[in-house]
Amino acid sequence: MTALGHSSDESRGGVQSLADRWPLLAQPTMLVLYLCATVGLAAGAAGYLAVSTEFRWSEFLTFLALVACGAVCIEATRRLGMPAGVSRDLLSAWWLPVALLLPPVYALLAPLPLQFLLQIRVRATVLYRRVFSAAAIGLAAGVASMVFHAFVRAPTGPSLGAGGPIALAVGCAVLFTVLNTALIAVALQISDPDSRWRDVLWDRERVILDVVELCLGVLVAIACWVSPLLLVLTLPPVVLLQRSLLHAQLKAAARTDAKTGLLNATAWQREADTEIVRARRTGETLALLIVDIDHFKRVNDTYGHLVGDQVLAGVATALRSQLREYDVVGRFGGEEFVVLLPGADVTEARRVAERLRSRVGRMAIPVDDAMITVTVSAGVAIMSVHGDDLIELLAAADLALYRAKELGRDRICLPVAPVPPPRARADNSDGGIP
Ligand code: GH3
Ligand code: MG
Ligand code: MG
Repeated sequence: MTALGHSSDESRGGVQSLADRWPLLAQPTMLVLYLCATVGLAAGAAGYLAVSTEFRWSEFLTFLALVACGAVCIEATRRLGMPAGVSRDLLSAWWLPVALLLPPVYALLAPLPLQFLLQIRVRATVLYRRVFSAAAIGLAAGVASMVFHAFVRAPTGPSLGAGGPIALAVGCAVLFTVLNTALIAVALQISDPDSRWRDVLWDRERVILDVVELCLGVLVAIACWVSPLLLVLTLPPVVLLQRSLLHAQLKAAARTDAKTGLLNATAWQREADTEIVRARRTGETLALLIVDIDHFKRVNDTYGHLVGDQVLAGVATALRSQLREYDVVGRFGGEEFVVLLPGADVTEARRVAERLRSRVGRMAIPVDDAMITVTVSAGVAIMSVHGDDLIELLAAADLALYRAKELGRDRICLPVAPVPPPRARADNSDGGIP
């Protein structure tokens, strides 16, 4: 299952603005409308189906057994925590059987207790994300359930053992996955129009996980159809898979800055060091940029920290979109980003830095009725010219950034050239760049 991720909802400084207390209000209007429409649709469908579905104890007990398995899965992996961003788990292994074996209303209701458990036992995240995730999963599972039951009238009878219903079950599991992913992807696209659909919807790891989830869900459904007691046998392998999946996600998350999705400072330094050693060995050129948002404090002071965070994420996306796959970009801290450009000489580094500066300057981030624009300043340092290792290059780029700020911001600077000995002074320049 795909779920919208988590972000810290703490507010800084003790004083909370309205947007800090109600993070949903800080989101773009389109996103608020989309989230409300999805949740409203799920709630309406659940209400309608609840009154029009005949209650059966056997179905209710199967529902409880499957939800209990999901709860055990959550508890068994709870200590590992949950990565930030869009996270994946294997809870569909329990939702798919609910959708296939029980009336559709149960598919709409099943995410509620489990999302509630995730919220109170694993990680308290911004509430609207949790509610939206529950609605998106519920709607996807509800639609898959309706399609399945339209063709297979009594899935708890012997029909599920036949080839046709199993093929249909697989088809409905695919439908569930596609719908769930699409509902989440639309929300991400509205909240960040610069993100690429392909990044959200399509990568090899995601597809492998979807296939694993789908197989698990159908196998658990068959086991549960044979006898709900067999759920006891399906539980340990699902828990084990869930644990290894979370472990892999947490490892990736440990390298990532949660607010921007870029490398965090530690991971960036490690990768930058590797690139510098490689450049020294091969004699290639290499450039390092420090990019700092101008007057970012004013953004926080005017619009609040949550909006400030949105601006940070927007700038990060803009930077990433202008760089090559093998450029190493990270968040160094606060509103400062670092970029390593393997193979770049002074002309190339200046060109890239200028492109980043103008891209960010043209970007407008919609907040309520206003559009926020920011500018950035950047310091550029070139390997072998301004420094020979990471520390020297960082120090030189930082010095250059300081100059850019002093000269009025919204500009690119190189470090002042080292003062040459008197006779050589006439020939030395840093390329005419301030
Ligand atoms: P300058 O042009 O000189 O760089 O001015 P500035 O305001 O950008 O720089 P200053 O160092 O004065 O302020 C940086 C601000 O960045 C202050 C701090 O609250 C804010 N900040 C740091 N980290 C975060 C964050 O994660 N989120 C938000 N919203 N603000 C942050
Ligand atoms: Mg700044
Ligand atoms: Mg700064």
